Amino acid sequence: MRSPRPLRPFSPPAAFCSASLAAITLLATTAPLPAAEPVKFELSALDGASQQFAVTMRLHAPNADAVTLCMPTWTPGYYQLVDYAKEVSGFDATTSTGEALGWTHDEPNCWRVQTGGAGELTVRYRVRAAKQFCANSYLDAKYGYACPTGVFLYQDGRLDQPAEVRLELPSGWQAATGLTRVGGVDANRFRADDFDQLYDRPILMGTLERIDFDVNGVPHAMIAPELGRFDRAEFTHHMTRMIESAAALIGETPYQSYQFLGIGPGPGGIEHGNSCVIGYSPSDGRSPTRSPRFMNFVTHEYFHLFNAKRIRPVELGPFDYSGPNRTRMLWVAEGFTMYYEHLILRRAGLTTTEDMLASLARPIYGYESKPGRLLQSAADASWNTWTDGPFGAGEDKISCYDKGAGLALLIDFAIRHASGNERSLDDVMRTLYFDYHKKLGRGYTPDEFRAACEQAAGEPLTDVLGYAWNTAPIDYDTYLGYGGLRLELDRGPEGGARLVPIESPTPRQAAVLESWLTER
Ligand SMILES: [Zn+2]
Repeated sequence: MRSPRPLRPFSPPAAFCSASLAAITLLATTAPLPAAEPVKFELSALDGASQQFAVTMRLHAPNADAVTLCMPTWTPGYYQLVDYAKEVSGFDATTSTGEALGWTHDEPNCWRVQTGGAGELTVRYRVRAAKQFCANSYLDAKYGYACPTGVFLYQDGRLDQPAEVRLELPSGWQAATGLTRVGGVDANRFRADDFDQLYDRPILMGTLERIDFDVNGVPHAMIAPELGRFDRAEFTHHMTRMIESAAALIGETPYQSYQFLGIGPGPGGIEHGNSCVIGYSPSDGRSPTRSPRFMNFVTHEYFHLFNAKRIRPVELGPFDYSGPNRTRMLWVAEGFTMYYEHLILRRAGLTTTEDMLASLARPIYGYESKPGRLLQSAADASWNTWTDGPFGAGEDKISCYDKGAGLALLIDFAIRHASGNERSLDDVMRTLYFDYHKKLGRGYTPDEFRAACEQAAGEPLTDVLGYAWNTAPIDYDTYLGYGGLRLELDRGPEGGARLVPIESPTPRQAAVLESWLTER
């Protein structure tokens, strides 16, 4: 049994009135609370030959007979349980003066240390890092990637503690991370405000190559152990256009810097608040941004910094790392991100209308070609992604990504039609971002999501929003027709789907299509 998370320090929403704040100030004691002692980690990457990180953890535990230290069981953004604890070996606990402390390992991912009254503990362990994948840590003689949820233990019930990380790197290596740097570049010291932030800041290390560029006055960088030889100016131009397009959709660039961290070759990527991790192979000869696959991929992970990290289902952050964090709204967090990756690239002028329509038709075929469409709703697929996987294991399941992406298009057209082409799904995303993430500091509930959609539409959207919660056949003709499109669908294994502009659209249909393709 996990102890419950303590309440976070009170931070009032922006709309909180000053009179209420004054009252709280009067009630508060005048003595300032002592600042929480940070948990201090040292992460050594010196043993690349054995593919193991060595970790030292120092923490204060005054007035505790025992502390429970746990390894997370998953990493946010990758909605699968991962047995990180099984990679831990050589666990050892002492007082700060080196006296051995007793401990037990009765739960798979937790160690309980008897403090013996010592207020300060030192814990050492090693983490095997031999799998090249965005949700696993990796270390060899060339580079290292610390997936923080698989490297840093947390004290059960104390995710609110600040953390410091000092890296011990082979000579000539550098580190790249979204953690806040403390001291000079060579110090390799970083800090996080709490463990949610620590777990949201992966660390790439090695003799790193990087391409730095500013967008909207904010530093961005593509960083990898080996980038390859290609036209840096072209790369920067394409990435800048993409980032400007995504940021314009919401209306701001909400971070102080952003890093695209390229790990070794392989599929998959994971989004974070001010970085993303992507599988990356060095590109020789031409900029990777000339590959539609690469651009779709980085745009998806980048836009997640809004949709999933900030605009998020209320269940997805702050997190419980001890088990699945289930939500019925992953079809929005993932499916809408799939939808917007294509729209963002089209608005940036980095893809054609034809290519975008082909890309948007693929998830519709993915959904419509599975018998599971008649058996499982998008909400249930979201809930069960922890067991079914992101793409829906078996023919009787669906992918919440695919159905969510298709529904995003239909909901967008429904809002444009109902509002006389005055508003769109973009307005919904902005409402969720500003009203829930920024003002209230939390995610949205299913009812709040529905309310934001219907506020933008100016009328109930019962049927189209209902498609997420039921398995009813989808009326594509009506909803696609609002934007002057129609669907050609062949559900067979050799079939496919096409989104096709209708002949002779009405002025209203043509206007919706035009604004959808340009900026709104
Ligand atoms: Zn995603």
